[in-house]
Amino acid sequence: MKVIIVGGVAGGASTATRLRRMNEDAEIIILERGEYISFANCGLPYHIGDVITEREKLLVVTPEKLKQTSNIEARVRHEVVSIDRKKKTVKVRDLSSGREYTESYDKLVLSPGASPLIPPIEGTNLAGVFSLRSMADMDRIRDFIAAQKPPRAVVAGGGFIGLEIAENLQRRGMEVTIIEMLNQVMAPIDYEMAAMVHQHLDFKHVRLALGDGIQKITQDQALKVTLQSGRTVATDLVILSVGVRPESVLAKEAGLELGVKGAIKVDSHMLTSDPHIYALGDAAAVAHIISGKEVNLPLAGPASKQARIVADHICGRDVAFAGVQGTSIVKVFDLTVASTGLNTAQLKELGLPFQNALIHASNHAGYYPEASPLAIKLLFSPEGKIYGAQIVGLEGVDKRIDVIATAIRGGMSVYDLEKLELAYAPPYGSSRDPINIVGFLAGNILRGDLKTVDWDAVDTLDRSAYTLLDVRNPEELTIGMIEGAINIPLPELRARVKEIPRSKKVLVYCQVGQRGYFASRILTQHGLDAANLNGGYKTYSHAVCQQSNFDTFEHTTINSREEIREIPPFNPADANQFTVDACGLQCPGPILKLYNKTKEVQPGDVITVRATDYGFTSDVKAWADRTGNKLISLDSADGTITARIQKGAEKKAEAATGSMSQDKTMVIFSGDLDKAIAAFIIANGAASMGHKVTMFFTFWGLNILRKSKPPKVHKNFIERMFGFMMPRGTEKLTISQLNMGGAGTAMIKGIMKKKNVSPLSELMQSALDNGVVIQACQMSMDLMGIKKEELIDGIDVVGVATMIDASDDSNATMFI
Ligand code: FAD
Repeated sequence: MKVIIVGGVAGGASTATRLRRMNEDAEIIILERGEYISFANCGLPYHIGDVITEREKLLVVTPEKLKQTSNIEARVRHEVVSIDRKKKTVKVRDLSSGREYTESYDKLVLSPGASPLIPPIEGTNLAGVFSLRSMADMDRIRDFIAAQKPPRAVVAGGGFIGLEIAENLQRRGMEVTIIEMLNQVMAPIDYEMAAMVHQHLDFKHVRLALGDGIQKITQDQALKVTLQSGRTVATDLVILSVGVRPESVLAKEAGLELGVKGAIKVDSHMLTSDPHIYALGDAAAVAHIISGKEVNLPLAGPASKQARIVADHICGRDVAFAGVQGTSIVKVFDLTVASTGLNTAQLKELGLPFQNALIHASNHAGYYPEASPLAIKLLFSPEGKIYGAQIVGLEGVDKRIDVIATAIRGGMSVYDLEKLELAYAPPYGSSRDPINIVGFLAGNILRGDLKTVDWDAVDTLDRSAYTLLDVRNPEELTIGMIEGAINIPLPELRARVKEIPRSKKVLVYCQVGQRGYFASRILTQHGLDAANLNGGYKTYSHAVCQQSNFDTFEHTTINSREEIREIPPFNPADANQFTVDACGLQCPGPILKLYNKTKEVQPGDVITVRATDYGFTSDVKAWADRTGNKLISLDSADGTITARIQKGAEKKAEAATGSMSQDKTMVIFSGDLDKAIAAFIIANGAASMGHKVTMFFTFWGLNILRKSKPPKVHKNFIERMFGFMMPRGTEKLTISQLNMGGAGTAMIKGIMKKKNVSPLSELMQSALDNGVVIQACQMSMDLMGIKKEELIDGIDVVGVATMIDASDDSNATMFI
């Protein structure tokens, strides 16, 4: 039997060697257009970045070695240019000599791979513009870098190869910009998971333009990349990595049937529409094991498994390829990003009903050094069938994605994930592994123990029907809150459950979802209709914040990491230095540890925090901004984040940690009834949303606070006259316009009664009951001769400074 194999890398070389193991007598010839067989394409970006320093290591097998060890003939620089199916021959061109010849076959195997897509735009042929598929491409890129020493690079495409290239070019000292047409990088994962990657790229000082494609590349002195938005990027090197296309021209011209994306259609034995020709790898269209649909999946793992099927089938074994599920993994700087199965967009397109569970858990026991968080999103059917999973984290991503990939292959359900007994010792995992936890969450959802709301539903939620409840501790709120949420820390929830209106549904959230789940269970058992925010505030805040950072960096040349931050003129030698080791703690642990440290040290002191939770990189920025502390530097090495913070002015830091920035301050100057009613309606509304409200009454506004029947107080003549002329208390106030000798005021009071609006006295009492701070201005009281005893109970008599202090801590001060 004579077998000709077209393409001698992942699929082709594996087919050849398996074939030899199964059949000693077969004549096996590999025809490879390129210079090498069996090279490690997956390692190419890492040789560009000098991570893999020795080029030879990428060459797994040479033709000589293959001949020697497997008696396989591999002809490099030999291109198959056509197939004659009737005669069962291929026409081959020797690229070194130009000679053409024919070669007969009994069985033909097509493993020609996929070629990089080159967008049909101006400038792709300019010097300095490359794509990466082969050793030759890699050599050209490396030579260019060695000769030109380009300081800037643009990578078009935020897929896994683009991200790998970006990281490796940055390793070579380049300022890297990624241009991605979609609104996210890494299309196989969902948006909120990709959002974590966007934040990480930003943290690593990679410029990222999302939702923008390359329009053209031009050259003046340097290269200029013009984007579809009209924005431009000056650069010295461009790598096009916008996808690949199956190399199926040979098959098409031979009349073989093509399938999805123009890939070669095959049956379960990897046989094409010709019973003597097989196809596999990037060039073939295969079945997806979950959707059952035909897909083209350009990954090395499936190619090598298909090779085994092809070889065995050629040897007469009745074997079949079960299909692909799309398990993939990529390193993006410190992060590992992995996925398997179907994502949300694919499930929606297929019209399959599904739910999802999103957790943030530690890769191993939190008390063991260097624990770091994993975000796991699991997608599943209403019956519990696992559709897919996506994981982002620093450590332990690979083993978790492989467990779920195996579970999918084995037809296991989310209920099986709950039961899996996985290896545990503190350095490796937890007694409840993240896989178990995501299984528990999915099981809770399916059993009806927990309702969830996804991050993207929050902003469109009917707020009149929902109370948003933040159950984090007050010091965590400095990281940020969802607009309009009220805060009742989880430990206080049982005692304060009556504060939550029963007439509304409750959307609970905490930082990562676990305490929100506990709170949801408490509320549900108290008869409230509660749902938990899937993935907590961490997922929400990553997804709703700015994703592209292109504009942020637009006017900045980044020559070094330090330059993109404004460094305050301070000499670290002058400051006392403190350290906080927050490694292994999950968000908000590092922030809380930092916060506690700031309470111990003096303004100007510098605290160096080491953490392994990469969420800390964005949290610490937000925390420092809101608390008046200064983030001096933020960096990472070997998965450990190091932040240096200089403590700011004492007062600011304390105020911010004690109050939410949603506080409101009102200055009530007017004593008009309508204005007083408006003021108390606003105050009660703000208080019911959990905002701290301070009302400062001054001048005529003090009349609102006067008792209708005050006790006797000592006053001089002028004070008595003043007191006599001014209205005493809410009943005596009149409206500012259309009073008409009191008729207008009476009308307003009548309408308020009819419309069930509480009278002013009740609005005031309810404000006091809701915790609104009512302050009377001491200075105005002195001027107008009003004594404290004449004012209603429950209020404070204060100076202006107290009001200013409250105003400083507020995000709005109203003057009425
Ligand atoms: P290939 O391995 O590409 O081999 C096809 C060969 O056929 C080529 O050498 C080509 O020259 C030759 N050929 C084509 N036409 C002819 C012809 N007419 N005559 C003779 N020879 C011909 N996958 C992963 O799973 N993980 C990774 O981390 C990963 N990283 C990657 C990084 C890079 C930079 C690239 C380019 C790919 C990466 N891949 C990765 C994808 C993986 O390499 C492919 O899925 C896999 O190599 C496909 O195997 P194949 O045999 O179908 O094609």
